[in-house]
Amino acid sequence: MSMQISFDNSFARLTGGFYARQDPVPVREPKLVAYNSDLARVLGLPEKELPEFAEIFAGNRVPDGAEPLAQLYSGHQFGQYNPQLGDGRAILLGEVVGEDGIRRDIQLKGSGRTAFSRMGDGRAWLGPVLREYVVSEAMHALGIPTTRALAAVETGEVVLRDGMLPGAVLTRVAKSHLRVGSFQVYAARGETENLKILTQYAIDRHYPEAEGPMGLLRAVRDAQSRLIPAWMAVGFIHGVMNTDNASIAGETIDYGPCAFMDVYHPNTVFSSIDQMGRYAYANQPDIAVWNLAQLATALIQQMEDREAAVEEATEIVHAMPELMRQEWLRRFAAKLGISDVREEDAALVADLLTRMAHQQADFTNTFRSLGTDKARDQFTDPGAFDQWSDGWKARLECEPDPEALARASNPAFIPRNHRVEQMIEAAVKGDYAPFHRLNSVLSNPYDDQPDHSDLRRVPTPEEVVPATFCGT
Ligand code: AMP
Ligand code: MG
Repeated sequence: MSMQISFDNSFARLTGGFYARQDPVPVREPKLVAYNSDLARVLGLPEKELPEFAEIFAGNRVPDGAEPLAQLYSGHQFGQYNPQLGDGRAILLGEVVGEDGIRRDIQLKGSGRTAFSRMGDGRAWLGPVLREYVVSEAMHALGIPTTRALAAVETGEVVLRDGMLPGAVLTRVAKSHLRVGSFQVYAARGETENLKILTQYAIDRHYPEAEGPMGLLRAVRDAQSRLIPAWMAVGFIHGVMNTDNASIAGETIDYGPCAFMDVYHPNTVFSSIDQMGRYAYANQPDIAVWNLAQLATALIQQMEDREAAVEEATEIVHAMPELMRQEWLRRFAAKLGISDVREEDAALVADLLTRMAHQQADFTNTFRSLGTDKARDQFTDPGAFDQWSDGWKARLECEPDPEALARASNPAFIPRNHRVEQMIEAAVKGDYAPFHRLNSVLSNPYDDQPDHSDLRRVPTPEEVVPATFCGT
């Protein structure tokens, strides 16, 4: 049996310079190191690994029906507009409509140079490939919209970064790879016709009920307003919320220097390149609004009546902070076991978070252990927790089943940064056991899994990973 993929490539059918046709550049000695049977099933692909997978997911063999291409986009990086980015190390093989009726992109990342590579080598090393694999699949299991990982291949080649490192290719699956930056590039160039075509394409593909560019803006706002509070509720820090990394479909995309917080602090930053803390944990909602404003600015360029469009877009963007605040409150109230949310619950949540920040409480373990004796042990001064806890318990009196709600809202397992780093170190030495173990445990993050309680442990001082680095 050989692999058949039923590609149906709607993006490749767009005409007008949205992409550059580009085959992946073959690698020397491809070796399949991970394959996601669960996702394969959704896509209608074989669940069992086939001998040709290494060649296919390395880009050495282009499957029938694929129309490989690199997408054009631009974007604001750390607030500065970069007029041309685009897929510099990624290639869209094509699209597949899954068994659930959802159309998805299948993309190779690390598959060689393209027309948009600029100074880059078009490659990725094993570390970021496995980080994205584990973290994106963990996000999926946590119930958070995200791109997913279908396969990882070692290339048998080395890439030059801070030394010679093993090369790898990730196969990424996404509802689409349209970003805010995909629209910015045509707006900035004054290519109004392309802007219109892409707007209609995005509406048809993601939000068929949306009317016109402002309808699309509203739909993206709503999707992003659900996404960012979901990150906040699990202590996730994306790390590079540039407009080229903001998905139109509302998925978490481009896992670079991302990480989950251990000890709670709102100013936490991991990314080594985020010197100013622009993308710190607590800044993420503000940045999402800023990014939506950039999408608004781009979409407006195609409107006949600019003045009316500016007014409508302003109203749409200005409503976003309150939408996110409500979703944030709903999620954090649920973490406390509260389903019938009241406005004053915001103060209860904020009070706990402030105490956690002062008392260096672990974000995940504190929430997961609420209602048990272990919660107060997370605080350097347990009395600080007790003071808060009395008011919380009183608040729960009229809740039907706070324990069940809290358990379903507070994961036991997150991909802790030191475990991700240890997993990468082992894989570089050829030991994939930690990778498989992490994937397996993180696929059920709300189950206690007592045999794996070491993965819930906070890092020792020696294990703490102070900074993470970009996927480049
Ligand atoms: P990212 O930081 O992953 O969002 O990437 C930002 C831009 O840099 C995108 O246009 C990427 O395609 C490009 N890029 C990142 N790494 C490489 C690389 N190794 N080779 C070529 N282009 C790259
Ligand atoms: Mg990117």
